[in-house]
Amino acid sequence: LVSREAKGKSSVVRVGNATFGANRLAVIAGPCAVESEEQLLEAARRVRAAGACMLRGGAFKPRTSLYSFQGLGVEGLKLLAAASSVTGLPTVTEVVDEASLELAVEYVDMLQVGARNMQNFSLLRAVGRSGKPVLLKRGFSATIDEWLMAAEYIVAEGNENVVLCERGIRTFEKATRNTLDLSAVPLVKRLSHLPVVVDPSHATGNRHLVTPMSLAAVAAEADGLLIEVHPQPSQALCDGPQSLSPDEFDILMGQLQRIATAV
Ligand code: PEP
Ligand code: MN
Repeated sequence: LVSREAKGKSSVVRVGNATFGANRLAVIAGPCAVESEEQLLEAARRVRAAGACMLRGGAFKPRTSLYSFQGLGVEGLKLLAAASSVTGLPTVTEVVDEASLELAVEYVDMLQVGARNMQNFSLLRAVGRSGKPVLLKRGFSATIDEWLMAAEYIVAEGNENVVLCERGIRTFEKATRNTLDLSAVPLVKRLSHLPVVVDPSHATGNRHLVTPMSLAAVAAEADGLLIEVHPQPSQALCDGPQSLSPDEFDILMGQLQRIATAV
């Protein structure tokens, strides 16, 4: 279902005013985690002003450590809905199980399946049945075939609105959080009709690498980007070292505008 031969042309996935595919660059931006009304609204306003087309923010955080901030849960979803009505930006948030999915469908426009759940087949089926557009991240150790088969589970439920997200894979290299597999982007676009976006924030874990890897992703035919932006990265409860400040994001968007259309 997800193969290019199955459809013959590229899919375009629309979420509110955001468009993935169709030779445009869609930029999703926002904090790793929703922390407070003030933090989210400030992030939303600034990323919108800079040209982002979708707001991200985690309410259910899949943290490696049990003792790290786990997210605000349904309160976070309510803050996302409020930030969306203030800014007009559609929203995406990660769901980690069927309980969080059931809550998220009431508040957000797109559901994210994270790297850790890419092969959670019951969750894939459930997001497929939800009818909401899905952002499917590549698992840390997933081959491209496994990633596409995960997408197949969602589309098989009758939900064609799937956007794939390359977010780096685990390799021997420890200098970066993950290793961004940029060659996956043009390859997957040959193999599949689904749009592909790149997340240089989780791929590198380092804000200094986010801009160069964003520019490289655009050169590699990515349909969009997912960028973590926090009003005060040094205060972030989650992923501060890889988050851009709003000013840094603004500069990145200016650089992208020079090389891409429709940012
Ligand atoms: C995220 O986008 O906040 C996230 C946890 O990403 P990943 O699943 O790619 O680690
Ligand atoms: Mn994060």
